[in-house]
Amino acid sequence: MTLLTLQNVTATYGASQALFGVDLEIGEGQSVGFMGRNGMGKTTTVKTICRMLPARGKMQFDGQDLQRLPSHRAARLGIGLVPEGRRCFPDLTVEENLGAAARRGHWDLSNVYTLFPRLKERRRQVAASLSGGEQQMLSIGRALTTNPRLLILDEATEGLAPIVRQEIWTAIATLKHETGMALLVIDKTLKEMRGACDRAVLLERGRTVWAGPMDDLTLELTETYLGV
Ligand code: ATP
Repeated sequence: MTLLTLQNVTATYGASQALFGVDLEIGEGQSVGFMGRNGMGKTTTVKTICRMLPARGKMQFDGQDLQRLPSHRAARLGIGLVPEGRRCFPDLTVEENLGAAARRGHWDLSNVYTLFPRLKERRRQVAASLSGGEQQMLSIGRALTTNPRLLILDEATEGLAPIVRQEIWTAIATLKHETGMALLVIDKTLKEMRGACDRAVLLERGRTVWAGPMDDLTLELTETYLGV
């Protein structure tokens, strides 16, 4: 069953148009890599999905018209966001951060600590005192405790040391293989994206230019649209 559908979505920042026609479909339990060069509109699309930016076009989540919902209702429908720049409450402890938006479900403190044992070790520390990688784990943990049906990861490995990146990719693989959660993953590292995602959607200047199974993403396509 289709969980999220975007059809011909457009959006503007004031007078400047950023999205010109985004099409995106994510099935229940599917993981989709959302790719494109810098500034092509990936984060803007995420903002429209989370109702942080008004948009035009068709947007449905679980059969409901997203356009009619304010952002807090969208979150309650089951969309979890790990935003670019890993935002946590800096003065709250790890445990307080994890409790802040928690909703009942599989992802309670104990299961988040199993996924990220380092967070358990740091549970009484304030978020501001964590390393970048630990803050990213906390940001993912926070989104998980809302028990979403779709988890959106916007550049979750950006700026992290290779070993920490690997830990994040391992966690993403666990989410993909051991839970029924759908994933929308934005990241620049093609090799890892190929391993983590079933499908790919390519964005160029605010438009979807290609969508298909990750295995069909050819070198020619990645050269043309990702520059790699
Ligand atoms: P990146 O990989 O660099 O994060 P992206 O694909 O996520 O890029 P967006 O951040 O969505 O791209 O940007 C799409 C376009 O919208 C760009 O031209 C950008 O300059 C513009 N844009 C983004 N945020 C704003 C804003 N707050 N106000 C005005 N224009 C914006």
